[in-house]
Amino acid sequence: MRSIGSMLVSKFCVFCGNPPENKNKEHVLPQWLLKETGDPKRVVKMCFNYRTKQHIEFSWNSLTMPSCTTCNDEFSGLEGQIKPIIQALLRREGVSVENYISLMDWMDKVRVGLWLNYHILQGNPTGIDPNFHIKERIGRKDRYLAVHSIDTDKMGLNAFGVESLVFHNAPICFGLKINSILLVNISADFIFSERAGFPYPTRCEYISVGDFMGAHKLADFEMNKHIEHPVLHPRMHKASIELVQPILQADVKTSASVGPQKTMRNFLGVNWDVDSYLTPRTYPPHFQAQGVLLRQLQDQTISLPELAQVIEFDSVTGDESQPIGELVAQIYEYQNMLFEKAVPDGVSVDDEPWKGILSFNSAVAEEYRKRSGG
Ligand SMILES: [Zn+2]
Repeated sequence: MRSIGSMLVSKFCVFCGNPPENKNKEHVLPQWLLKETGDPKRVVKMCFNYRTKQHIEFSWNSLTMPSCTTCNDEFSGLEGQIKPIIQALLRREGVSVENYISLMDWMDKVRVGLWLNYHILQGNPTGIDPNFHIKERIGRKDRYLAVHSIDTDKMGLNAFGVESLVFHNAPICFGLKINSILLVNISADFIFSERAGFPYPTRCEYISVGDFMGAHKLADFEMNKHIEHPVLHPRMHKASIELVQPILQADVKTSASVGPQKTMRNFLGVNWDVDSYLTPRTYPPHFQAQGVLLRQLQDQTISLPELAQVIEFDSVTGDESQPIGELVAQIYEYQNMLFEKAVPDGVSVDDEPWKGILSFNSAVAEEYRKRSGG
């Protein structure tokens, strides 16, 4: 096994991005989860270093990132909340809206943590400089969570989609299989806002010159004030649970050009905290702007405004039921679809490096589908 300890030379805290104060180690996948899914010291082989062209074997246990002691302490509470939630899901029990929101926060943490970690493990294949860290992503952007029930007695922990070049470019979509459940998570700026009836930008321009080079300029916000079903469009295979949460980004800049900057807050007006449409559709305290959870069912999408409400598993039977290989293949294909949508104007996905980035995922999807006999 290659030692990865020496490769982890990053100087930033995985949570805040600053040089770590009272340096600590954060397990990207926590110890309790490793114990829940088998021998915590087991070795996995699922990472490819694009620079050295070598597969890397490592134990989940050694997957750590530097962190500040205070940052680490701040998030240990979240870890404590998640363990009983995962255990309830493994028993197919109902979980409250409030606990699902915590689970979505945790998925934000894991998704960004794995992105930062794989970025180092894989030799930074796309030459990016991580410009955000865990703290800046928890509960900050529209998000989707699916829980798939997998018919298996085998224990195990697998992360899907995190090694792909699309994920490297932007950590938007990934899957996490924990024993007999597969969690699928998607999160990005305003990705569900339009269909959730929330304010969304009708223009998103890529800035190719000047001080804001590489940024996106969001402009001309609109709000339809009604939910379109399905909120995740196109939808993925039916899951036992599918939840979408739109997030109001109050302070997002709606213009990144010179001059006074308009924000979402301006768009919504001074009294946006008491907006008659949005207030009952966000959880208190409303200034935090967390949209009410939407449950996407087969034929309708329903709002879940009560935090104590328990969400029970929906049945997935017959033709609706998909083998794990198909569910995993879909993650890689969905990544490709989202990536193609985000490609700047004037760029063709038939040209490199875009073509190679997409074809890697297509090959992985095909492989998983073959293995599941599809
Ligand atoms: Zn920190």
